[in-house]
Amino acid sequence: MANKRAMICGGGIGGLVTALSLLEYGWQVTVLEQSPVLGDTGAGIQISPNGCKVLRELRLLENVQQRAFAPEKIEMRIGQSGREVFSIPLKGTAVARWGAPYLHVHRSDLTDVLATALKQRATGSLQMTRKIVGYENRGSQIAALLDNGNEFVGDLLIGADGIHSVIREQMLGKQAARFTGNVAWRATVPIEVLGELTPPPTACVWVGQGKHAVTYRLRGGELANFVGVVERGDWQSESWTDQGTREEALADFDDWHPFVRNIIDKAETHYRWALFDRDPLPRWHDGRAVLVGDACHPMLPFLAQGATMAMEDGLALARSLTGDLTANSDVNDALNGYFNSRISRTSQVQAGARKNMKVFHKPAIAYAPVQLATRMKPDLMHQRMDWIYDYEVPEAPGKFKRTL
Ligand SMILES: Cc1cc2nc3c(=O)[nH]c(=O)nc-3n(C[C@H](O)[C@H](O)[C@H](O)COP(=O)(O)OP(=O)(O)OC[C@H]3O[C@@H](n4cnc5c(N)ncnc54)[C@H](O)[C@@H]3O)c2cc1C
Repeated sequence: MANKRAMICGGGIGGLVTALSLLEYGWQVTVLEQSPVLGDTGAGIQISPNGCKVLRELRLLENVQQRAFAPEKIEMRIGQSGREVFSIPLKGTAVARWGAPYLHVHRSDLTDVLATALKQRATGSLQMTRKIVGYENRGSQIAALLDNGNEFVGDLLIGADGIHSVIREQMLGKQAARFTGNVAWRATVPIEVLGELTPPPTACVWVGQGKHAVTYRLRGGELANFVGVVERGDWQSESWTDQGTREEALADFDDWHPFVRNIIDKAETHYRWALFDRDPLPRWHDGRAVLVGDACHPMLPFLAQGATMAMEDGLALARSLTGDLTANSDVNDALNGYFNSRISRTSQVQAGARKNMKVFHKPAIAYAPVQLATRMKPDLMHQRMDWIYDYEVPEAPGKFKRTL
């Protein structure tokens, strides 16, 4: 398998993990990223145990852990009153029950760990300001076509180019992503400026009619992270750098708990992001072009799984590609195998995330049954997450793996 060359369109979390995974299996990789700099700005991300297991396979879990925060508990509270619906252990449980930690990490820290490892393990493999506009299958090779007329040629092209993927569009036709009617506010604030009105050091979901918020900590607890999701149809822009104002964000949570309002009030920047998704796609590959992450299964963030699914995809793809791939039919079989191993899981997670919109956006009174159920059966919420967090990407039996 040595000397096969993969080009990866997109240097987000999905693209970087895919590149690192392919390296483990002897591929040469080139990540082509359109932006001049890497990294999602100003926001945290939750990496559940299934994602941490991928990081461990790539020998990067400790590096991420050093820059992350592991919450003691996961909680649900009523957004307006702060009343606890449930509070269940997470830190110890995650390792004991699902075999890996549950981490909160700043996106730029995660991207930095991944990109640094990639550059160390494959010098020159990360190329910035390379915008891909399409691809051309050419017999036993494929060309990635750049906007400046240049091209990169290799054995495989991976579209890790997010929800508006140009690779997906060429593969399956133009079809706009679906606006879900939800807008997300995002902000981070140093804990020291929050004073007494600091949200708890947990993964805390604040629920209410037509909206919810999530608060958690980053960087060993130095930073508080806020995500606030509101159902509204008047904002459909999607960019990590689009901003609203403090007043607009406060107005969306005007009668909510002081912990929630304080974090909005103290934030210097209020990023605003419209939430889109798609239905599951009929296929993820065309000749030697194949998709991972949001390019093939964008989802609402209500199960906090989009990036984690992209990470699982990257490792699963690398493990599907360990045979002799000289003939196009072998490539087709391998990419079919990858699709078949992922489509049911990612579709279920997409559907689960959509369902959670209804779970998180109910009036306070509707949470009484959840409160009662979790009191009577404290294990209930853990059980509900088993199918997601327990998962480990299967190893390709008897296949070559590079040992460094
Ligand atoms: C508010 C919010 C909260 C979230 N919270 C979580 C969470 O807690 N946990 C979780 O797992 N997920 C979460 N997600 C989902 C997660 O952010 C995404 O699923 C994940 O970032 C997708 O990664 P990706 O690499 O597939 O795509 P992207 O992150 O979109 O990366 C795509 C990359 O491709 C590049 N690119 C695009 N087009 C081209 C081109 N033509 N040529 C070259 N490069 C190109 C882009 O510049 C970008 O760098 C959240 C999402 C939102 C909106």
